Amino acid sequence: MIRRVMPTLRLMNQPFVSSIAALPEPAEPALWFIFNDMQLLVQTGGTLFTVPAFANQDTMGWTPQRVQYLGRLGNDHCLCADAPPDAPLPAGWRFLGLRRLFDHMAPDLFRVAVRAVQLAAWERNTQFCGRCGAPTHTKPTERAKICAACDLTTYPRISPAIIVAVTRDDTLLLARAHRHPPGFYSVLAGFVEPGETLEETVQREVKEEVGIEVDNIRYFGSQPWPFPDSLMLAFTATYAGGEITLEESEIADAGWYTAANLPLVPPPISIARTLINAFVAAHPS
Ligand SMILES: [Zn+2]
Repeated sequence: MIRRVMPTLRLMNQPFVSSIAALPEPAEPALWFIFNDMQLLVQTGGTLFTVPAFANQDTMGWTPQRVQYLGRLGNDHCLCADAPPDAPLPAGWRFLGLRRLFDHMAPDLFRVAVRAVQLAAWERNTQFCGRCGAPTHTKPTERAKICAACDLTTYPRISPAIIVAVTRDDTLLLARAHRHPPGFYSVLAGFVEPGETLEETVQREVKEEVGIEVDNIRYFGSQPWPFPDSLMLAFTATYAGGEITLEESEIADAGWYTAANLPLVPPPISIARTLINAFVAAHPS
C-alpha cells in the first residue's frame, strides 16, 4: 500500500542535495514524484498534499516508468518517474498540476516537485537522439543522455527568461497581454535569445513590447518556472526615455501605476508578484 509521507517532512525545512546516484535498493524507502504528463501524483485530503513514500515500487500495483534518482531531501531518497498509461490509482490519490499544488504542499516537497517535473519531461522527451534518431542512454557521470550512434550529448533544457519591473518616479510599468483576462496586468517578460546578455534582453523586450528605453538594470532574483522549463531571471530597471507604444500583436494595454492604484496582478506563486510586492513596499502610501 502507498503510505503517507512522514509528518515531519511537512514541517521541517530540509536541504535538498541533488545527485545522480544509482537507484536505491528496493527495500529502502523513497519519496516518489510520479507524473502523468506534467501532473504529479498526490494524496488528497488534509490541509497539504503529499507524494507517495514507499520502499518497493511493486506495492503500487504497477511499475513506474523511466525512473530517475533525483537526490536526497533530508534523509529521504527522491525519485521521479512516469506512471504507465491508464494506471489505476488507489483511493485518495490523483494527478494534479503544480500550479494547483503551490501553497498546498510543504515547501520542501514542492521545490523537489519543480525539479522532478522538468527531469521527468526531459527523460520522456530524450529517449531518441535529436540529431540522428538512434536510441539514447543515460550517462553515468552526469545528468545527460548520450546517443549510442553519434555520441551527441543532451542535457536537461532550461529556457532562461527575463522579467523586469520598470519604474518611473513613483509608478510601475504594467502591461496586459492579449492572452490575459481583462483587467489583469503584469510586469514585462520575455525569453533570452542566443547570444544576448541578460541586460540586452531586458532592454530589447521592454523596447519591443512597449517602446521605451530603460537603464539602471539591477538583478532582483530568480525562480524556476516549470511550465515547461523556464528559469525566470528578475530585474528592476528605471525609465530612461520614450513614450509607451504597444507591440499590438502581443500587448493589449500598458501604463504606469502607483502602488495605491494597482490593477489585478499575478498570484503569489510567481516572481512577477514578488517584484510588484517589492515595488509596493518601497512606495508606501
Ligand atoms: Zn545520434
